[in-house]
Amino acid sequence: MKVFVAGGAGYIGSIVTQQLLDAGHQVTVYDSLIKGHRQAVPAAAKFVLGDILDRATLDLALDDGPYDAIIHFAAFIEAGLSMQQPGVFFRNNVAGSLSLIDAAVAHGVRKLVFSSSAGVYVSKDSPLVEDDPIGPANVYGHTKRMIEEALMWYNRIHGLRFAALRYFNAAGATPPTRGEAHDPETHLIPLVLQVALGQRSRVFIFGDDYPTPDGTCIRDYVHVLDLSQAHILALGALDEHPVLICNLGNGAGYSVKEVIDTARQITGHSIPAKVVERRRGDGPILVADASRARALLGWEPQIPDLRDIVASAWAWHQSHPHGYDAE
Ligand code: UDP
Repeated sequence: MKVFVAGGAGYIGSIVTQQLLDAGHQVTVYDSLIKGHRQAVPAAAKFVLGDILDRATLDLALDDGPYDAIIHFAAFIEAGLSMQQPGVFFRNNVAGSLSLIDAAVAHGVRKLVFSSSAGVYVSKDSPLVEDDPIGPANVYGHTKRMIEEALMWYNRIHGLRFAALRYFNAAGATPPTRGEAHDPETHLIPLVLQVALGQRSRVFIFGDDYPTPDGTCIRDYVHVLDLSQAHILALGALDEHPVLICNLGNGAGYSVKEVIDTARQITGHSIPAKVVERRRGDGPILVADASRARALLGWEPQIPDLRDIVASAWAWHQSHPHGYDAE
């Protein structure tokens, strides 16, 4: 297959690109490098520098087709920041995605895999299924829901087949090559590991008065390689199913305090932590029931244990203490 990966210089996109290449597919990575890292793009992929909001550059890149599919990772992802700068998120994630989807249709691309999020749901204290109530707690989650809804119409009107993969909390790395490096870093596991590396004095716990056993938020951490595999499977499953909306998570929830404790065990560092105010837009509990992904995609996570996930992230952070910047 010939696959166009928007956002392929990012954390998940670069790993999917590598897996696509390993499976013998031809890949073009399209990335603005606003958040992505050129060094993360596998050498065997073609690279085009461009923004998804820039339709002219997108069209030029897609002229190099025909592409069998687009995988769309290009988005801003910081849930907390989206509650301070809603316009930035609506513009990039909604207007940008529409620009990419329109370009896909104009170029006759038949399949699209979209990075959606657990952030589309109302928080619930048991595992979420895809038909559970939708109700994003933050602008980021809402942008993902808006594009899922738009894609339903593109499917009806243009026959564009799509998979919306609702990631729970992507984590882990593929050491020594690829890992999670955001600027600014807002995600729990990399922040905790930066404390273990001596780059931060402590980690802040955003609220311990949630309705959970230890009062901190519970999330379902899923290894980036397992997430990646689901994209490859989705490309195949779209031949059979024109619309796929699937949760991707392990079905096990860990609190913020449990994640920090796990990192203490893995790194041997005390990792000081301080409880501060809640972060706006955080639901208390988000855990996946991924039965649909297992049934329809044949997805079977290979690295479900949080300790293995954190250990892989730690190995990468030790080999890249300053992310990709030092390369
Ligand atoms: N979190 C925290 N301190 C931090 C970063 C995150 O307590 O410095 C919490 C956050 O409130 C959430 C969980 O860790 O409950 C996971 O947050 P993250 O930003 O990693 O992912 P999200 O769930 O927002 O996608």
